[in-house]
Amino acid sequence: MEKKKLEQFKKRLEERQQLLRKTVSRTVQDGRSADEEAAQDIADKAANSYTKEFLFHQSTSERQLLQLVEEALTRIREGSFGECVNCGNEVNAKRLEAVPWTRYCIACQEKAEKGLMEEANT
Ligand SMILES: [Zn+2]
Repeated sequence: MEKKKLEQFKKRLEERQQLLRKTVSRTVQDGRSADEEAAQDIADKAANSYTKEFLFHQSTSERQLLQLVEEALTRIREGSFGECVNCGNEVNAKRLEAVPWTRYCIACQEKAEKGLMEEANT
């Protein structure tokens, strides 16, 4: 991949990484204040646990995304960015443009989504 192109991806990924880091830590704080409110008013408990669950799921997916972004940045440093981590083929340029933190080429992504890849969830 061209160095200039790689720099652009790096910049985009770093910006996303910072945003996600902020979101993830803010979500944790929101979860804590939801706890305090629950202690204050037991009648609101049901609504509160719903809110907490929502926040939990939200922060989980954002944390996962953050991890993918960080892995992509590591691949940039190691010089393997743009290659599928499973088969080593080049990831389609448009796909990479849309989802720079993607780990797989389209064929492997489909395999991973169908659970056909052994290391997909590790
Ligand atoms: Zn692949």
